Amino acid sequence: MPAGSLINPGSLRLKKMDDMSIEKVDTTDTLDSRPSGDYPSAEPLEESNQVQPGEKPAPDKTRSQQLRQVVQPEVLQLIPEVMARRYNAIPISISGHTLKVAMADPTDIFALEAFSAQSKKRIKPVAADANDVRGAIDSNYKGYGEIEKKVSSISISADAPDERLAIDAAIDAPLAQALDLIIEEAVRSRSSDIHIEPEEDRVRVRYRIDGTLHDMMSLPLNIHRAIISRIKILADMNIADHRRAQDGQFSTKAKGREIDIRVATSPTVQGEMAVLRLLDKSRATIGLAELGLLPDSLEKYENLLKVPYGMILISGPTGAGKTTTLYASINSLDTMGRNIITIEDPAEYRFRDINQIQVNPQAGITFAKGLRAILRLDPDIIMVGEIRDAETTSIAVQSALTGHLMLSSIHASDAAGVLTRLIDLDVEPFLIASSVIGVVAQRMVRLTCPDCSHLIEAPMIEQAAYQREMAEKTTKFHYGTGCASCSYTGYLGRTGIFEILLISDSIRALLIKQASSNEIRAQAIKEGMASMMNDGMRKVKAGITTPAEVLRSAYSPDLKL
Ligand SMILES: [Zn+2]
Repeated sequence: MPAGSLINPGSLRLKKMDDMSIEKVDTTDTLDSRPSGDYPSAEPLEESNQVQPGEKPAPDKTRSQQLRQVVQPEVLQLIPEVMARRYNAIPISISGHTLKVAMADPTDIFALEAFSAQSKKRIKPVAADANDVRGAIDSNYKGYGEIEKKVSSISISADAPDERLAIDAAIDAPLAQALDLIIEEAVRSRSSDIHIEPEEDRVRVRYRIDGTLHDMMSLPLNIHRAIISRIKILADMNIADHRRAQDGQFSTKAKGREIDIRVATSPTVQGEMAVLRLLDKSRATIGLAELGLLPDSLEKYENLLKVPYGMILISGPTGAGKTTTLYASINSLDTMGRNIITIEDPAEYRFRDINQIQVNPQAGITFAKGLRAILRLDPDIIMVGEIRDAETTSIAVQSALTGHLMLSSIHASDAAGVLTRLIDLDVEPFLIASSVIGVVAQRMVRLTCPDCSHLIEAPMIEQAAYQREMAEKTTKFHYGTGCASCSYTGYLGRTGIFEILLISDSIRALLIKQASSNEIRAQAIKEGMASMMNDGMRKVKAGITTPAEVLRSAYSPDLKL
């Protein structure tokens, strides 16, 4: 593939016509700015024969049917279904070396680049309504043919009771196979969660891959109750109860490995939805070196863990990778000579040589009560899954002051914000100053897929953000356009971006006089702290992620960048 952009976004000339969804767009100056060589030169376009110019305005329904029907089946092979869903765009016809694609957002240069790279054709985008495109993808693609085949052989009458759905072999066998395939496909595409959600006209199946949800397939609505019942039976839940949220767990084999799956169901206005979380056992054995800390940060953090007592806090929103960092920290500690006890909610993974306690409010075990109990068990190192209330915070601070190494996570937008968050939780500033030894703030960013990475001119805002942080101008960055190895997401795996604030004497002084988090932050940066934004942009410079990812995850409106 040529490294340069194949499409010059500035020359895209598109307009959405009022009276039809398909429009002929002149491509002679649209796509000819590509580097010549790999692609044949432009050839004259044929008149679209599906929709005649000057046709009367069509009502929505007809228009959406129109889009469904104009798709030439042979062009579907050029673009995989997941890719079509990712960009909400569907190829409709081919003429010479030009592939006509109906797109919800025809100005999406990444989509154009991706379709061009995938099909080896030049792309002629036509604007279409987002729902029409989705409908056309649903009705034209048979990418998940196996699953669809299983599901289409099931016939279920609307008034069949749930119990019957569960035991009827004619329903159950193909359904079980379909569910297995859905799970297998999720494992194959490295998903962490499967969402099964009823909508007005379909059951939407989405996978969370590298932290982001992707619409993967649509199942017919008539199998909705049966598939939810099947999941509930597996997870040992009450199939007759549709009104309450429930949770459960089951294990299955997929791709030759044993997968533990935690299930949560909940009623929605369209019916019950289910979320299946696939637990990745390798997370329990992760090491510090795998977190994505740059060498200087890794050294800083390792030194922090060598301090015999005090409190280390990991902060960030849900999904920022706090638990993984806590696990990696625990794994790096010497378990032979020291007693390490954790209290977690829930204790998803089992560690060797570590005593784990699970929060269980029904049995009266809260973070605070559990932590009190731990202190009577002669611990050296304590890990509290999360600090979120004043009582737990106060016990944690006391234990850090009395000779224990305390590790925990807390919700705050940045490292300096953690210190002010502790004040909000009623901890005296001088106690924070004497107990906390370091704070890590983190986010996860997706890694650009190395197999489909292209240098593409970045949108202005991404260029500006990079320039501001790195004080150097760069216009092109590496973006993944989607390929089989990354399940057409453009990203493969994730890494953390971090800021590590060490509590120095000057920061202690600022804490005691109750300085604002911005003042503390400024002082920390003066003392050598790299912000998450900075850490992220250094990873952009290394070509492993994109400015868009860093901005999405590290930007917070209340942070002064
Ligand atoms: Zn890829």
